Formats: sequence, C-alpha cells, structure tokens
Amino acid sequence: MILVSELMLQQTQASRVVERLTPFLEEFPTPEGMAQGSVAPVISAWNGLGYNRRAVNLHRAARKIVDEHRGAVPDNLGDLLDLPGVGPYTARAVLVFAFERSEAVVDTNIGRVLARWEGRTLGRQEAQELADRLVSHDDPWGWNQALMELGALICTGVPQCVECPVSNSCRWFVSGRDGADPAPGSAAVSRRQSRFDGSDRQGRSALVRTLSAGPVSESDLPVAMGWPDDAERAHRVVKTLLTDGLVTRSEDGGFELPT
Ligand code: SF4
Repeated sequence: MILVSELMLQQTQASRVVERLTPFLEEFPTPEGMAQGSVAPVISAWNGLGYNRRAVNLHRAARKIVDEHRGAVPDNLGDLLDLPGVGPYTARAVLVFAFERSEAVVDTNIGRVLARWEGRTLGRQEAQELADRLVSHDDPWGWNQALMELGALICTGVPQCVECPVSNSCRWFVSGRDGADPAPGSAAVSRRQSRFDGSDRQGRSALVRTLSAGPVSESDLPVAMGWPDDAERAHRVVKTLLTDGLVTRSEDGGFELPT
C-alpha cells in the first residue's frame, strides 16, 4: 500500500490520492494480482490521477517484485531503486513508512524547511545529507512525519515563523529573513505545475479515458483527444503515448490500451 500511495503522491494532490487509493487497492490488492494481468486495467484505474506513465511503471514494478522478490516489496534501498518508477524519495519513503527503517526523506515540504533552516538553497545531495544527519534514529517514522507537517502547516510558502518550534535554530529566521527566500529552487521544492486546461496532458488523458472503453480508429483520434480541428497536434501527441507504452496500435491501424 505504501509503495502505491507514494507513487500516486509523486505528482498528484493528496486529497485526490485519498479518494482514489482505496478503490485502486481493492482492484489490485497484491503485486501478484496486478502482475498476472495486462497493463490496460492498471492504466484505466489510474486515469484521472494524471501522469499515467506511473501506471505503466507500477505494473512493471509489480512484475519485477513477483519475478525477483517472491511477491514481497523489497526492504532495502538498492532493490527499491531498481524498481521502475521508484526514485530516491519514493524508495526512502517506503523504507521509513512501511518498514520503519532509519532513513530520511526529502519531499517538497521537508526540502523547503531544510533550505530555510540551513539558510541557503541546497543541492539534491546536500539536502539528503542534511536530512540524514538530522533524522531521529529512535523514531524515524515520527521524525519524517513531523518535518513534513512542519513544512505543510507552518513553514509554508509564507512561513509562520512566530509559531515555529525550530525558529531559534533556523538560520534564515535568525538572520531576520535577510535576503531572498532560500527555498525556491532548492532540492525537492516543487515548482508551480503548468496549466492542465488546453495542455498536451489534457489530450493524453482524454484519449486514455476513451481507450478504457475500447479502441479508437485513426480518423477518430483528434475527436478522442479533444482536438477535432487539430489532427496534426493529435498525431504528434499520440506519438508520446506510444513511446511511453501507454497506448499501442490496434490490428486495424487504430489505437488501444496495451495488452
Ligand atoms: S523559523 Fe520560519 S523559515 Fe525557519 S523553519 Fe520555521 S517556519 Fe520555516
């Protein structure tokens, strides 16, 4: 469950993940259950969460877990990082929140706190090393959770420093918040997502949704992507879906979800 939820949370708002996680896990309760079927139902179940490539990676990860780890999610960093779609943050999050290992995660909230607390913009390795130095080895689960909440509730875009429990040791605060905010551009601190409406992502999502109900012919492609008057754009964008493994060509030359 932790691996699936962390993959969902990579690029989807927590409130949407909360709505979709339970039905998704009811459909795919185990790696075996997901691995023995095709990727198409996983893509269909994922649609609406955005960035559907994660569904393809999750299906590949499930097969690897079954083939190489007897169906159990691995509990070490190297094997987790070897799973498709699993990066340093997700691998450490699984270790901390599923196995309660003494690891430190750096997500967007923690990245913001660390940069301000250190008083400077941090590179990826610097942020991870700082988090590794600070993590409580007695309660890594609680420590990571507390730091995430500090970033989510107090050290936000406009930080509420007067309410902050670590203000006395925060370099940026102690300096009188002198100079630019060190958080933007620091490791893991998310940038504003581009608009969805009118984007290529919107067309990709529309096509995957339509394909969940059945194949689409070549001539119907622009309508299925929401661009009835822009066939050139539809054909350009569908190539990215083919490359990502989210869509395949059907026998009659149209498009369908991969089997
Ligand atoms: S004192 Fe302010 S800037 Fe520093 S960690 Fe706390 S909320 Fe963030």
